[in-house]
Amino acid sequence: MSRAVAEIDINAIKSNLDLIKNKTKSQILAVVKANAYGHGLIPVAKAAVESGADWLGTALLEEAIELRKSGISTPIIAWLTPLGEDFRSALELNIDLSISSLEVLDEIMLASNLVNKVPRLHIEIDTGMSRGGVRDDWEKLFIQVGKLVKSNKINVVGIWTHFARADEPEEQMNATQLSQLNDRVSELEKRGIKPEFIHIANSAAALTNKPSHKSIVRWGIGLYGLSPDVNSVGSSKSLGLKPAMKLKAKLNLVKQVKAGATVGYGATVVTMKDTKLGVVALGYADGIPRNANSDAGVFVAGKRAAIIGRVSMDQFVVDLGLDSLVKTGDEVIVFGDGSAGEYTIDEWAKACGTINYEIVTRIGPRVPRIYTYERT
Ligand SMILES: *Cc1c(COP(=O)(O)O)cnc(C)c1O
Repeated sequence: MSRAVAEIDINAIKSNLDLIKNKTKSQILAVVKANAYGHGLIPVAKAAVESGADWLGTALLEEAIELRKSGISTPIIAWLTPLGEDFRSALELNIDLSISSLEVLDEIMLASNLVNKVPRLHIEIDTGMSRGGVRDDWEKLFIQVGKLVKSNKINVVGIWTHFARADEPEEQMNATQLSQLNDRVSELEKRGIKPEFIHIANSAAALTNKPSHKSIVRWGIGLYGLSPDVNSVGSSKSLGLKPAMKLKAKLNLVKQVKAGATVGYGATVVTMKDTKLGVVALGYADGIPRNANSDAGVFVAGKRAAIIGRVSMDQFVVDLGLDSLVKTGDEVIVFGDGSAGEYTIDEWAKACGTINYEIVTRIGPRVPRIYTYERT
């Protein structure tokens, strides 16, 4: 093994896709943005398609283009479409685009004239995120869309929005957002436009809010075996999800120190007694958050060893205890599904004051991904 490696369990990805397929009649869109939440774009996308994903979804158009260039022909939506993107390639490669404004629609139409392709569009409605999506000026956009549909210049494939609080299933806002989307769908229908697909549900809604499933469920964090929210939706285990990423590293040094040794930048920790320390060759440049506290650590030789001191750019230190037999070069598990006793991604997230999404997504390009296709 090299310095560190992220092992991605492809069977877990497939099992997590199956899980949602069995829970809904809607089509499934596997969300593979941000390098498949850090798990690796192409291998994850291929696994999802093999397991029956009907759609793939990315934020960036360049991610969608990469999928097409790898030979994937499944319908793809790219939903972050700033001005100046390579819309020509998008149209030539049959990538569905989301629109939120007249400006973007105009640019897509320019590209469409150049390559002589009818754009496949999904209209994004802002129902409360105030991020992407058309909000108060929807009528102007719908009028223009209506004109283009009448002259067969665009194909309005979908209309969609995004929940702000799907991980709080009891919140009234979920129903409000869904009903606002339904209102906009009616407004479109009044103008003679009937998109084939209506979509709103992310993983949390897919698991907790059946009426929101509509025609497509956008399955993101769940695909990776992680819970959208451990407290309100349940743990991976209770949901039957299998965390797919296991981060392993080598101890590049083990040393014994006396009581009173300072550890790391700022000398924020001083050892209370004689102990052995292990140096892990991973740091914040690899996506290990700098603010990780001692509630996280590594699993080595059947035991947990907590972080001691601050995480640096390329290394962090764990306290192995004086009696440890662990040696320089031994392998540790930084996080995994917890089945052997290792720290879970959710425990790491808590120790860093963040969410599991951020822990896996930020594991950087310096960490090679390897793919396992059998459960060992
Ligand atoms: C990221 C994203 C999703 C997936 O969200 P999860 O909580 O990971 O399921 C769905 N839809 C959109 C628009 C997104 O940006």
